[in-house]
Amino acid sequence: MEFAFTEEQQLIQDSAKRMVERDIQPILDAYPVGESLPRAAMAKIYPVLAAQGITAPRVPVEQGGSGMKMLDYALIYEQLPAWLSVSIMGHDVTFARIHAEATPEQRERFLPGMLAGEKIGGTATSEPAAGSDPRGLSTRMTVEGDTAVVNGRKLWITNGSVADILAVTCIDGVDEKGRNTLKRIVVEPSECNVEIREIETTGLKQGHLAEAVFEDCEVPVANILSSGGDAARMLTITWNGNRPLVGLVAARLAERAFEAAVEYAGIREQHGKPIAGHQLIQQSLADMQTAIVASRMLCYRALDLMDQGARNNADAAMAKRFATNACLEAISKAMAVHGGMGLTEEVGLEQLWRDARMLTVPDATDEILTLIQGREITGIAAFR
Ligand SMILES: Cc1cc2nc3c(=O)[nH]c(=O)nc-3n(C[C@H](O)[C@H](O)[C@H](O)COP(=O)(O)OP(=O)(O)OC[C@H]3O[C@@H](n4cnc5c(N)ncnc54)[C@H](O)[C@@H]3O)c2cc1C
Repeated sequence: MEFAFTEEQQLIQDSAKRMVERDIQPILDAYPVGESLPRAAMAKIYPVLAAQGITAPRVPVEQGGSGMKMLDYALIYEQLPAWLSVSIMGHDVTFARIHAEATPEQRERFLPGMLAGEKIGGTATSEPAAGSDPRGLSTRMTVEGDTAVVNGRKLWITNGSVADILAVTCIDGVDEKGRNTLKRIVVEPSECNVEIREIETTGLKQGHLAEAVFEDCEVPVANILSSGGDAARMLTITWNGNRPLVGLVAARLAERAFEAAVEYAGIREQHGKPIAGHQLIQQSLADMQTAIVASRMLCYRALDLMDQGARNNADAAMAKRFATNACLEAISKAMAVHGGMGLTEEVGLEQLWRDARMLTVPDATDEILTLIQGREITGIAAFR
């Protein structure tokens, strides 16, 4: 058992830190922190991410990706600003899903631009009436000759308003048991009738969460992904990778809050001494540090299991639920250490809290993660 990074992993992490400071932060500094980044800025950032190999880390090199270990991907991923972590994950899973479900011809058409970071991708599955339960989807695809017609409404699409490529999950019929059968189709928003608008949310403000309304959106049938690739397996694999990654974003946010709290506690004096010298403040700091370290350990472990080809469904669910909640609580404690200052925009902790709060929902809510873990423990599904 090893608890330290290897020399190579340390280099990956250091290089990612430098990449953010040198190539990404200067671009971000030109825009307000409370607004979605314009497409032009995204067009500068994505090739930088491509150069790090994280536009397609989960697909092997010989199949057109950059073939990274999940743990190595995570070391780069957790250095990014939180909203950008969520953005690149939305892109990268879209790449992996298209790759898994596409014919060689479709891969050739859709994936090289995404690999190079010239095209941005997103997956549109959630709908107003279907979130945790994808069986309730209602967006429909009907085929008329060479054209597939998509009708429906999708919500919460990461990268939705800046995406060149959307993998849209649709109903295309029913099976012998009367259940909806699902297929994905690649939609290029510039080429069909889809109305996209951004959704205002509490955090991750520089990112792009969008709603898309498809009204008789005509797409070539050649865009339907149905090569018989193992799509269901790929969905689970991508979720099991995403969950610990999301947990690591929470840990990074909490770490920033913790560092601010340690510094403030050392300089702020009350009752005749720095508040760092009061026992209850030390307890808050100790709780925060414990939350961060424990979160990282669980998340790295879930990713390492995946790299070893081991089943990690419970570990990934556990890691995300623990990390997002423990880190949200840690940020809240850091705000409390700052007293009234902790609530100000100037100090910035409230933004960390808002960003962290966003992370409790994507790639499964706390309740769904609990049920996934419960199913792994008992062998009994308690979803319905
Ligand atoms: C930042 C962010 C990024 C996202 N990115 C994408 C994306 O790129 N593509 C995409 O398709 N979607 C995306 N989503 C949507 C996300 O996947 C859904 O919001 C999530 O699955 C929950 O669905 P819902 O919001 O409809 O909540 P619901 O499913 O309606 O859940 C409401 C509440 O009921 C609980 N609940 C549901 N079922 C059960 C049950 N069986 N037992 C107990 N409690 C239950 C839930 O835990 C929750 O507390 C994103 C969301 C966010 C916040």
